[in-house]
Amino acid sequence: MEEIYCFAGNPLDRASERRRDTAWIRSLLDDPAARILPLSDLRPLTRGSVSPVLDWRPAAPWRDLIERGATLVFLGLDDERPYFAVDASGADIAPARDSEPLDARTLAPLLPTGEAAILAEARSLIDWHARHRFCAQCGSPTRVESAGWVRRCPECKASHYPRSDPVTIMLTVRGERGLLGRNKRRPGSRFSCLAGFMEPGETLEECVRREVHEEAGVRVGRVRYLACQPWPFPSSLMMGFLCEGLTEEITVDPEELAEARWFEREEIRAMVARAAAGPDDPTQISVPGPVAIAHQICRRWSYGLDSL
Ligand SMILES: [Zn+2]
Repeated sequence: MEEIYCFAGNPLDRASERRRDTAWIRSLLDDPAARILPLSDLRPLTRGSVSPVLDWRPAAPWRDLIERGATLVFLGLDDERPYFAVDASGADIAPARDSEPLDARTLAPLLPTGEAAILAEARSLIDWHARHRFCAQCGSPTRVESAGWVRRCPECKASHYPRSDPVTIMLTVRGERGLLGRNKRRPGSRFSCLAGFMEPGETLEECVRREVHEEAGVRVGRVRYLACQPWPFPSSLMMGFLCEGLTEEITVDPEELAEARWFEREEIRAMVARAAAGPDDPTQISVPGPVAIAHQICRRWSYGLDSL
């Protein structure tokens, strides 16, 4: 059965075929049931400190900000209402009881599955708009169209679409052992799956083999896809794999990794259990927490739920 990881499982109907209908989008925004999620410097407005939830606001009070040019994105509909996100960076957000902008990465593991997925959609899009104000073809300022899903250049007429950056992330296994690396940029005792961005003209399998060889010097044979996860920092799609290590010797790329090691299956299972139990204890080796697909790949293999 397909498992849903953090940032996946978006419950909204994106109604993508109707985004270009500006009158329809306007009527959705005018609907008193409409809700809008303000993001301030990419941090969503959040309510409640013990079990936080996204602070969905009625749309009407945000009309002024939108008319003054704040980026508005249509996220989708459910049976009750339409949902939007607005870039409220620099706006004077009236402080409400128990409401503040929170860092999405800290917040995501605390949210219900569907809400985290909607947050991923909103954060990636708002971030994309902030970084793509000018046409990549001719340099002119571009305009938002299709309810926030296109930027169009009025000069050369090019249309620019938000992208997802594909990343492969893999656990290389060799019998009863799995290969994990410790990132150079993350000091301490946290090991994780190797990972890297896909390059143009590359298949998933080729990317997995190249990354493992580049980062750890290990040759990879068979490659098996497991699952994927949107990762909105800023806009990646993490695609998880198990793959077969054909060679044993490790040569780390010092630009990427501080260290890479083969761990026994039981060791990885213990690292997974520690990571699931709570925050890192720097004196003990562990893997990332359950929010990350690396955790899930390690969990599924070390508990025997997946094999090559
Ligand atoms: Zn242009």
